[in-house]
This record gives sequence, structure tokens and C-alpha cells, in this order.
Amino acid sequence: MKQTSLAKFLYLSIAAAIVTISLKFYAYQVTGSMGFLSDALESIVNLFAALFALIMLRISQKPADDGHVYGHSKAEYFSSATEGALILIAAFSIIRTAIPRIMEPAPLENINTGLLFSLLASVVNLLVGLTLIKNGKKRKSLVLEADGRHLMTDVWTSVGVIAGIVMVKFTGWFIIDPIIAILVALNIIYTGYKLISRSASGLMDATIPAEDLEKVTLYLDSLKVNEIEYHSLLTRVAGQRKFISMHLLVPGEWSVKQGHDWADNVEETIIGLFDEPVTVSTHIEPVDDPASVKDIGIDRVIMPRQNP
Ligand SMILES: [Zn+2]
Ligand SMILES: [Zn+2]
Repeated sequence: MKQTSLAKFLYLSIAAAIVTISLKFYAYQVTGSMGFLSDALESIVNLFAALFALIMLRISQKPADDGHVYGHSKAEYFSSATEGALILIAAFSIIRTAIPRIMEPAPLENINTGLLFSLLASVVNLLVGLTLIKNGKKRKSLVLEADGRHLMTDVWTSVGVIAGIVMVKFTGWFIIDPIIAILVALNIIYTGYKLISRSASGLMDATIPAEDLEKVTLYLDSLKVNEIEYHSLLTRVAGQRKFISMHLLVPGEWSVKQGHDWADNVEETIIGLFDEPVTVSTHIEPVDDPASVKDIGIDRVIMPRQNP
């Protein structure tokens, strides 16, 4: 139920992207403006973003299965890496077509019609963007909210392009047009870079954000009064899911049940600190045994020992 209602908004976003792409391409067709062309190409990015969000919702939320026991939350990195690569291609093709226009500026035609269609496209983006952000917040869906914010940045790009074309209209300086196009392209390159580096960092098991880590350590530090210490706190982000593991050092004379009760308590409390899905695992050790500190890193120090 929750998924289908989220998907409904993403379909709205896809429909909006198709409408705005058509309007902006028409604005480019009637004027011949590089600025409008680059803005239209940026809307194609939005279409990919919405499609990607939809696929992500489907694949990432697929429950764990025998072949993928940790779930499928990393699926989104493949989509965002591809999206990043595609928009880089779009940006470089804008720059390639805009540079000759700087050398030899070409006059724009039907500027008023172009402005009208571009403005119309921005209104569509604005309304859909605001709807997505509002509902994303209400439903606690980061996917929906991120898609909405993406649309809002697109509105600002269009406002910049429209302002530039209005300037062309009043000054007659046609060189402004390819310059705007290149600025839009640079912005697209920055977005593409962020998408690709985010995917790369995710595929390499980046740690959870600093503010999230602080929430966890603050709580773990507070356990000292209950004679519980910790070490080997390891975290990683896998798409919308976070994995957190640690060793809990408890008094050696505690019973297995006592230790396990605390472990469950700690795991549940940490899960409760987050809105998004978190998997927490713990490892109980006696604080007074020197063997407990030999396993802090990701590689274990193997020591010769007698069987217990
Ligand atoms: Zn258990
Ligand atoms: Zn340990």
C-alpha cells in the first residue's frame, strides 16, 4: 500500500518531466536558443532521475533472498552511476554546440514565444516539485523528497535561462545565449560528478554520516554507568539501509542471558535512533579478558591458545 502510493507520485514526476521536456524543446525549436536547448537537456536528466527513483523503489525494497541475504539496498548505486554518466554526456554535447556560437553569435527568433513556453515548463516543475517535497516529508520518503528537490533546482536553472534570454531580448547581445548554455552545462557536470562520486563511495562501503555516528557514540558512551563498554564500532551505508556493528564489553561474571538481554536492548535502542532501516549486530565480550581487545580491527589477530 505504502509503496504504490509512493510510486503514484513518481509517475506524476515522470509525466511532469515529459511535459517540460516537450515545452522546453519547443522553446528551443522556435528560437534556436542554446540556453533553451541546455535547459531542455537538463529536464531529460529529471526524467532519468524519476525513472531511477522508481526502479530504486522497486529493487531496493525487495526483501532479502537466498542469494542476497543483506537485501538489495545497494541497487540504487548502479542507477545513479548510470544517470551521472548520461548527464555528463549531455553536458559535454551542450558545450560542444555552444562554443561555436560564442565565436559567431546567431540571432534568436520568436523570443516571446520561447519565453512563454519555458515559463510554462517552469510552472509545471515548480508545482510538481513542491507536491513531491510535501508528500515526501509527510510519508518520510527520502526518495520522493530528493526527487522533488531535484525538480526545484531545475526551476532555478530555468529562471536563470529565462533571465538571460530576456537580457538578450533587450540588449540584442546574442553572445549571452551560448554563455548561459555553458553555465547550465557546468552545473550539470557538477551534478553528474556528485552522482558518480556518491555511487563510488557507496560501493566502497562509506561510513554513516558524521552526525549519525555521533548519535550512536553518544548513546554507547552513556552505557558506561551500566558497566558496559564498547569498541570496534563499524558502520557502513548501503543505499537507504545502514549497517552498524560493535563489540560490547560487559563484566565477565555476567550470565549469557544477562549479556544477551543487554545486547538486544542496545541493538533496539540504536535502531530506534533512526527513521530509515538500520541493521545492528553486536558481539559480547568479557571486559576483564585481554583476549577481548585482540579483535578490534577488521582483521583478527590469531593467537595460539589452549582449547577452553
Ligand atoms: Zn539474540
Ligand atoms: Zn572485541
